[in-house]
Amino acid sequence: MLRHNDNYNREYAMSDMTFCYCCRVHHPSALMRRFRTRNGVRWRCQASIEAAARDVAERDAAGRLQSAMNREAARRLAHLAALVRSEDCVR
Ligand SMILES: [Zn+2]
Repeated sequence: MLRHNDNYNREYAMSDMTFCYCCRVHHPSALMRRFRTRNGVRWRCQASIEAAARDVAERDAAGRLQSAMNREAARRLAHLAALVRSEDCVR
């Protein structure tokens, strides 16, 4: 959840404010974007959309790193297993 500066918001007239369903506060309408949800189109501020997009990008990057590490671990395990098998054959 983002915190917004109250003083900044007070510089705008209430008539020019739109309720942000994400932050649960009113923001200046100029900062608001239409955002599609399961329950229909809601107004959401640009900042919260960008923050959410950054979170997703970071999660994706972490997920890619994890699967790369999993692949490397699996490769090493397969290599070890092959070594053990070949040693079994020698004996
Ligand atoms: Zn907001």
